Amino acid sequence: MHFENTRSFARQLDQQDPLRAFREKFHIPEQNGKPLIYFCGNSLGLQPKSVREHLDRELAIWQQHGVEGWFEGGDNAWYTIHRRCKEPLAQIVGAQPSEVCPMNNLTVNMHLMLTSFYRPTAQRYQILTIGGDFPSDQYALETHLRSRGIDPAEALVEVSPQAGEYTWRMEDILAAIDEEGERLALVMMSGLHYYTGQVFDMEAIAQKAQAQGARCGFDLAHAVGNIPLQLHHWGVDFAFWCSYKYLNSGPGGVSGIFVHQKHHTGNLPRLAGWWGYEQERRFDMTKGFVPMAGADGWQLSTPTVLAMAVHEAAVALTAEAGMEALRQKSRLLTGYLEFVLRASGLPLEIMTPADPEARGCQLSLLVRPGGKQLFENLTSAGVIGDWREPDCIRLAPTPLYNTFEEVWKVGEIIVRFVNDETLV
Ligand SMILES: *Cc1c(COP(=O)(O)O)cnc(C)c1O
Repeated sequence: MHFENTRSFARQLDQQDPLRAFREKFHIPEQNGKPLIYFCGNSLGLQPKSVREHLDRELAIWQQHGVEGWFEGGDNAWYTIHRRCKEPLAQIVGAQPSEVCPMNNLTVNMHLMLTSFYRPTAQRYQILTIGGDFPSDQYALETHLRSRGIDPAEALVEVSPQAGEYTWRMEDILAAIDEEGERLALVMMSGLHYYTGQVFDMEAIAQKAQAQGARCGFDLAHAVGNIPLQLHHWGVDFAFWCSYKYLNSGPGGVSGIFVHQKHHTGNLPRLAGWWGYEQERRFDMTKGFVPMAGADGWQLSTPTVLAMAVHEAAVALTAEAGMEALRQKSRLLTGYLEFVLRASGLPLEIMTPADPEARGCQLSLLVRPGGKQLFENLTSAGVIGDWREPDCIRLAPTPLYNTFEEVWKVGEIIVRFVNDETLV
């Protein structure tokens, strides 16, 4: 599309936006009575207005029925609350409903998935990942290996960008998988990198890993609700995500897992708890673990009902908008942000890939000199992005609640910053 750097052009795009009604469904934070320009949905998504009603409903059940809430109310009973999110989640990640389950938090689920899918042998014990992945993922891999008596220095293979580059070349990742070959037990990495915003070709990585006899799983923290996924079709073995970023399920909201159908039979080893036990006989309280079918069989604990109620309200919105429509708007919105940034005269490098296929909502900016000043300037002007050490500004316009006019305004604020000589 040919972009123009004018308010009227931005407004025209907003008028043509088929998703424009969704902004109304969110609470937009304000400063001095004016809505903030919130480009931080990659860190904490905004609150859907429908959340309160869902929470109130569960609070009322607790208030009026106490413990009976677990079993009363048919399909609304808490006992099967995890089911309410399965359809929308399956739609969002491209899976069968039996392959997904909302539960726990992300890093917990990562350990659970590693327990099941990392089965090292004397010959095949390596885990291939990307260098500089999200810290929690690094700590989880390191300590998970140690807990099995394996030295991470021996078993962990990290692929990095080439010297002088910010993003990974697919051919380097695929070549590294081939190079490790029969030593490789698992490929596990982010599907969309939190720092640079780079999207990886998950299908190609999964196929390459499996061709070498390894398994493949993805951390989808920044991918879920951001880009369309086809986990089932791609043959990915497992995945996990958090729901408080692009899925808007609130701070620390419920995480989710994907376990491919091909692993539903065969009873993979796992760390179990009573909530993964066969639902109909759970309250028999008998000895010997019998898992529920599919991803549900990885549940450990009593679900966090209130967080699940929020999650239910939030994922319904993403599913209603549909990942294809969200992606279509997102490509334009982020493309427009790139356009206004480049037009602003800012000394700017964009770490995020220029190819729209290889990025989601987020742009990661290096502004030298003056990056930190620019960031502070944006914040005081009511633009919420985030600062990532040592010198990166992340801005993520999200298609559910951000507008083209907001993007245009950010460009205007930056032009004022550039023209103010005392600042640069
Ligand atoms: C946000 C994020 C996390 C956070 O993990 P929690 O267990 O939810 O705190 C982990 N990994 C990645 C890649 C993330 O982007």
